[in-house]
Amino acid sequence: MTKKMNVESFNLDHTKVQAPYLRLADKKTGEHGDCIYKYDFRICQPNKGHMEMPALHSLEHLMAELSRNHSSAVVDISPMGCQTGFYVSLLNEASYEKALDLMEQTLKDVLVATEVPACNEQQCGWAASHSLEGAQRLARYMLDNRAQWTKVFAD
Ligand code: ZN
Repeated sequence: MTKKMNVESFNLDHTKVQAPYLRLADKKTGEHGDCIYKYDFRICQPNKGHMEMPALHSLEHLMAELSRNHSSAVVDISPMGCQTGFYVSLLNEASYEKALDLMEQTLKDVLVATEVPACNEQQCGWAASHSLEGAQRLARYMLDNRAQWTKVFAD
């Protein structure tokens, strides 16, 4: 690759990864020793597929709300602009295994959800753009491929 850039993912060769996966992308320690672990939770193969906005948006709402039932370490779960995955930021959660479990449990909750939380004009910035079915299809796909999550790069 060319010159090293400021953003970790800009230094990642997106042609070499193999979605779906969960990858530790960055780790930032504060002056008091607290540490934020930032994960790249990739759902679609970069430049081959992407999530449609209503499904992505509902999955974002569902994971944001449901993940916090399992862990107080969740700082943020945010969609990537390329619509191929999410960034998951966890506070002081050093265990990759626990991060894997957290996402697995959260997606299992998504499968049985009966509504998208906060999909109304008071609580969301684009309340018309939601799909519970689409989010559940993505969750099903990820859970069906759970065994792949620890393998980030193609052979
Ligand atoms: Zn929203």
